[in-house]
Amino acid sequence: MPPDRRLRFRNDRGVSARRSDGREGAAARVVRGMVATIIRPTAMGLIVQKFGGTSVADAEKIHRAARRIIAAKTAGNQVAVVVSAMGDTTDDLIELAKSVCKDSPPPKREMDQLLATGEQVTIALMAMAIHAQGHEAISFTGGQIGLVTDNAFSKARIQSINKQRILDQLDHGKIVIVAGFQGITPEGDMTTLGRGGSNATLVALGAVLAADVCENYTDVDGIYTADPRIVKSARKIERISYDEMLELSGLGASVLQTRAVEFAKKYNVPIHVRNSQNDNAGTWIVAETPNMEHIVVSGAAIKKNLVRVTLKGVPDHPGVAARIFGQIAEHNIVVDDIIQNVLDDNSANISFTVEDGDLHDIKPAVDKLCKDLGGKTTATYQSDLAKVSVVGVGMRTHTGVAQRMFRALAEAKVNIQNITTSEIKISCIIAKEDANKALQIVHDAFELEKAKA
Ligand code: ADP
Ligand code: ASP
Ligand code: MG
Repeated sequence: MPPDRRLRFRNDRGVSARRSDGREGAAARVVRGMVATIIRPTAMGLIVQKFGGTSVADAEKIHRAARRIIAAKTAGNQVAVVVSAMGDTTDDLIELAKSVCKDSPPPKREMDQLLATGEQVTIALMAMAIHAQGHEAISFTGGQIGLVTDNAFSKARIQSINKQRILDQLDHGKIVIVAGFQGITPEGDMTTLGRGGSNATLVALGAVLAADVCENYTDVDGIYTADPRIVKSARKIERISYDEMLELSGLGASVLQTRAVEFAKKYNVPIHVRNSQNDNAGTWIVAETPNMEHIVVSGAAIKKNLVRVTLKGVPDHPGVAARIFGQIAEHNIVVDDIIQNVLDDNSANISFTVEDGDLHDIKPAVDKLCKDLGGKTTATYQSDLAKVSVVGVGMRTHTGVAQRMFRALAEAKVNIQNITTSEIKISCIIAKEDANKALQIVHDAFELEKAKA
């Protein structure tokens, strides 16, 4: 059972469509397709908002976000807000740690201790901005709201949240500001939830508080058919299912962290992704419904900076793959695109991809495996790979999608190195230098820029 399934939300208001107070939650309304009616804050609802790094990058932007938060409050809602570190703070802190540690990776516990400071700065400044605008706010770190995680530093998983402190403050009429991306272990150590982890904080709070809406404010108007910074013709999607968004996030659409979408699906929390700089309606991420249009390809994504690990001369007998991937999983490394070829001499070659940020952790684990497997197994690493993917629930019932994608890539002379598929996605491993071009090509091949009738 994945750790998220053990999440213990003390949620006596429930997260089901019908709330214990008798009112219908946002989930039910979205499911019935009445998206337009809840784009504006509902009177006397509970809203959880999240502002990403670019939306709080300087004093002026913090004040702009504060105005939006206050507008939701004065419309009659209770408002809890999750904030990320300002601008590129997290990247800057990572560079700072590298400059101190030079050759060896920084100790993970200390890294989390350092990175958690980024969000702590923003919560205090946001509370100050709200005060300066004449409203009451109180800020909390992850630890202060009992956001307890496991001890997988840098990729910790949320286990429970004690919502009482937040509810007490909301009931006193205060706006509650919570630091995204961070938690605390039962022993009291600071943890972080993986890059983009403020999204997970947003959805976890949305679930535990039974929020009417989770609003994710970012620097683009919503979820697009591809990263709008790479594909200029990308089109904003009005509504997308959790499953499609899960695939897109996992395949590189960094606008939402995969774990956050997992939570949202499990607890049926609708997310509205919006631009913090304008009032445009964004994209709703909701449960799939029978009346939702089953578009064959909804979006395309690119994941760069992948490394292929190949283990050669692996003994071909039962239990070996379980042992290899079990040991890698112990290091909390996500592997993908697994391929095994069995050779005539009763040995096998096994390859898989990892993100290049995981290379430091995976190398020692793989070296140990090679020794443990009897000394004949060797490992090679190929970096500078990328993965281009298309995603759509309609693929379940349509054929020819793979062929169309492969043909488009071939015509543009992009070499496909590996292919992986699921019910609703097709992915091709390609050279990193072809990445942006390949994304544009598949976007064009499926005419994703055209709105579906
Ligand atoms: P924040 O700081 O608000 O968390 P991020 O930088 O993490 O923002 O995520 C927003 C970025 O995600 C956008 O600027 C965009 O470049 C990128 N992105 C990638 N794929 C998509 C997509 N399919 N739709 C929208 N944005 C995307
Ligand atoms: N500040 C963290 C990051 O840059 C978390 C987040 O922004 O969601 O990854
Ligand atoms: Mg982000």
